[in-house]
Formats: sequence, C-alpha cells, structure tokens
Amino acid sequence: MATLETAEDRLRRWIASHRRVFALTGAGCSTASGIPDYRDAQGEWKRKPPVMIQAFRTQDAVYRRYWARAYAGWARFSGGEPNEAHRAFALWESLGTLLQLVTQNVDRLHQRAGSRAVVDLHGRLDIVVCLGCGDRTSRADLQTAMAAANASWRPEAAIAPDGDADVDGTIIESFVAPRCRRCGGLLKPDVVFFGENVPRERYAHACEALAGADAMLVAGSSLMVYSGFRFVRLAHEAGLPIAIVNRGRTRGDDLAEIKIEADVGATLMDAVGALA
Ligand SMILES: [Zn+2]
Repeated sequence: MATLETAEDRLRRWIASHRRVFALTGAGCSTASGIPDYRDAQGEWKRKPPVMIQAFRTQDAVYRRYWARAYAGWARFSGGEPNEAHRAFALWESLGTLLQLVTQNVDRLHQRAGSRAVVDLHGRLDIVVCLGCGDRTSRADLQTAMAAANASWRPEAAIAPDGDADVDGTIIESFVAPRCRRCGGLLKPDVVFFGENVPRERYAHACEALAGADAMLVAGSSLMVYSGFRFVRLAHEAGLPIAIVNRGRTRGDDLAEIKIEADVGATLMDAVGALA
C-alpha cells in the first residue's frame, strides 16, 4: 500500500530505480564533521554574510580581517573528517548509479571519503591563489607562513563557516596579513567568493553531467545560493525527478517529488546501503 510507505521507503526505492543520478550537496553534509552551516532551518543567515570579493580586493581592513579569521579557524576546519554523508556518496558512486556529484562545499571531504566524480562548484579552501601573478600554493603552507609572521598573535576564537572564525575587532588590527611570496600580490583561497561567478568550464562540466542524468538528488543544501539552485531549475525543466534531503526548507521544495527533513548521513546511508 503506497499510503503506508514512509518518505524513507520512497527514497530507498527512488535511489534503487535510477541509474544515472546527478547529486548536489551543500553545507548540511559537513556539519557532522564539525564545519558549521551559514544558514538556519528557515534558510536565513545565522550570522552576518561572508566577505564580498570587491571589498576583499580593495579594502586593506577587509583583507586583513578575512585572513585573521581564516588563520584562527584553520585548525578546526582542516581537522574535519568525512562523516556518514560523505561515506554514503562514496559508496553510491562505487555501486555505479551515482553519475556525478557537484558540491557547494569547499572542504574536499567528499574526495577524502573516496568520491572521484566530484565537481567542487565553489572551489577548494586548501589551495591559495595569488591575484597578482596566479601562483598557486597550499593553504597548509600558508598557515605555517602566517604563524611565523604572527608569532605572538593568539586570538581566542570560535569557529565559523568555511574556516572562518570569530575574532575580536581590535586584535585583528595587529594581524600581519599574508602576501604572495613571489610578487607581493593579494592572496585569496581558491574559492568562489560572494560577488564572483563559478568559472565557466566548471559550470559547463556540471551541466554536461546533468544532461546525461536520469534524476537529481539534493542533500544538505537550502539552495539559497543561486549557483546551486540553478541546477535544480535545469533538472526540473528537463523533466528529471528531484529528491531533496535537508534539515529545513529549501528553495527547491516545490520542484521535488520527495522531500525528507532529516539528517543527511543517516538517511542516505540507509537508502544507499540497501543497494549494496
Ligand atoms: Zn603573486
């Protein structure tokens, strides 16, 4: 009897019945790894919005503040380990019916859990790019350099999204912000800041995968950021069935045939594990 079927049953059947799933994941997949989400269950900002690219490029104080907070938050961010949600996607890919994973997360935890077909839509926080000469370096190495340049700088910091941290305003003024070791230019993590677009080729790659998909699943995203939501719109326009697993409402709820408000890790592992 269909009326007795739970949403979890339907998701299990949904996952078992599609052969080329395109999945989009967001911050809700990484919260169990100790990396907080930007938004609450209503999709509203929990805290003030993150730094905009124009201010980052043009205002010394914004640049210094970004790096002071990133420096303070790095240990916790980089110490995050993959959780059940990441393991469920890696298992699903190994079973052959997850075609492509596109993540809005910049933590690389999907890859660390073993996923290979991953598009990091908003980039990766473990790489730093010089805005002057384009030099690419490891964020871990930059952390060491920042530690050397700020030997006596010890903020009491609380963790925030994307490796950011709450740091008292006055102490930020004493932070020595990093510069490119080659040209002295501004350094930026290799992530898409607010006010920037997803690089064209990266978007095209994801769209190509979506064109070959037979269904779309969203996990752990409120879809409030348009760069993620547009894939749901494209999937809907292409007539693909859409399933969403997320704590709280999402911008795509009206377009989904299945919507489950629950923990991503437990829900997906239950559904994908049934296939294995
Ligand atoms: Zn440079």
